[in-house]
Amino acid sequence: MHTQLIAAQLERKQLRASSRKHRPRGLPIILFGPPGSGKGTQARLLAGKFGIPAISTGEMLRHGTGCAFDKTIQRTMQAGQLISDELMNHLLGARLKRPDCANGFILDGFPRSVSQAEYLKSFLKDLGMPRPIIFHLTVPDAEVVRRLTHRLECPTCGETISVDGDPDVITCTCSHDGAKLGHRDDDVAETIYTRLKSYKATVAEMVRIFAGDSYFEVGAMEAPNSVAAHLAELVRTGI
Ligand code: AMP
Repeated sequence: MHTQLIAAQLERKQLRASSRKHRPRGLPIILFGPPGSGKGTQARLLAGKFGIPAISTGEMLRHGTGCAFDKTIQRTMQAGQLISDELMNHLLGARLKRPDCANGFILDGFPRSVSQAEYLKSFLKDLGMPRPIIFHLTVPDAEVVRRLTHRLECPTCGETISVDGDPDVITCTCSHDGAKLGHRDDDVAETIYTRLKSYKATVAEMVRIFAGDSYFEVGAMEAPNSVAAHLAELVRTGI
């Protein structure tokens, strides 16, 4: 009887250990939101808070992929149109396989289509990661246009600042690495409307696809640090 009891206890212990071993690990976070809603800034702030990388597909493309299509890619971006799913899935997959993503990552700008969303879902499963946390940042259209036409970006680290009010604008250099700040080629009125339209055409579908996951719609009109504190709190309590 005593031996049976010990065997049963041992079995329970082994079961607990094995379920711990197979429990999905990592913190995948996806940021949705129109251009200019602060996804890049929030991704960087959350990356600092949780020690996981911020991955912006737009930034990856702006830095150049090294493939033969780079010129076509830059033209497509300047027109505010989307790059092919095949290329984007390939680029993102290669990035997520890097060791710094083992504990999670924050995605800014991916997925933007059904194919990309499905690719990401199955990729997370293969990596043994839990279902992602989705933050959907919302700002009114007029604010999107105002922010994008007023923003300067560092070509090296991707940090952005607004020309209405930030003292660093006087020097026009990045306070992190000293690089010269500039307007993004696609931050011009005509392209902004195309990007906004493209975002609106896909976001509802993206939200639907990830509906079963931890999904939070968050107003992003407050100062970046307040929004980040709110998101970090949701990460801590929402999982
Ligand atoms: P963003 O920096 O996220 O505003 O992206 C800038 C541009 O890069 C977009 O307008 C697209 O041309 C391209 N891009 C970035 N991410 C993606 C994606 N996931 N799928 C297709 N195109 C993308």
